[in-house]
Amino acid sequence: MTLDLKSLVRTIPDYPKKGILFRDITTLIEHPEGFKESVERIASAHRGLNITHVAGIEARGFIFGAGVAIALGVGFVPIRKKGKLPGETIGQNYALEYGVDTIEIHADVLNADDNVLLVDDLIATGGTAIAAVSLLRRTGATISRAAFVIDLPDLGGASKLRDEGVEVDELIS
Ligand code: IMP
Repeated sequence: MTLDLKSLVRTIPDYPKKGILFRDITTLIEHPEGFKESVERIASAHRGLNITHVAGIEARGFIFGAGVAIALGVGFVPIRKKGKLPGETIGQNYALEYGVDTIEIHADVLNADDNVLLVDDLIATGGTAIAAVSLLRRTGATISRAAFVIDLPDLGGASKLRDEGVEVDELIS
């Protein structure tokens, strides 16, 4: 049976600030079938594609990405905020509405033989995902696919990511 995943996502107005409609996936992951089906649908769309690793973006990308990695039988690569990884890292800056943020991965985690699936809970403007793809590609690995639980198409991120040569899947639009 296919669940209506969209109905399991809660919308919270004015979070984190006034005028923003925040899509809250905690209600989806609290629902046992909803969580399981989200992970299984992303995994089944990526079987047989020689994915070697799933990379998830801190923090909600860890929740879905770890499940997808287990379902695909591959390793998980955490993409973390600056200063959180203990080993030698490489970092990528990206623009926020006000200011700049940095994401990092371990420098020795991937190489040119690897084929990475990027996973996050949501793509909006695409700034975070495009920075993640640039960072992962600096290791020499192939990043040709990304999957999101939610795409906000009016913000154009998925289409910008496709312009970067990444095939994009989403469960909820
Ligand atoms: P973007 O960089 O504008 O595409 O924003 C995507 C990033 O911000 C992702 O890592 C999301 O987890 C987070 N994000 C932005 N808006 C929302 C939302 O409404 N709900 C949950 N996460 C969001």
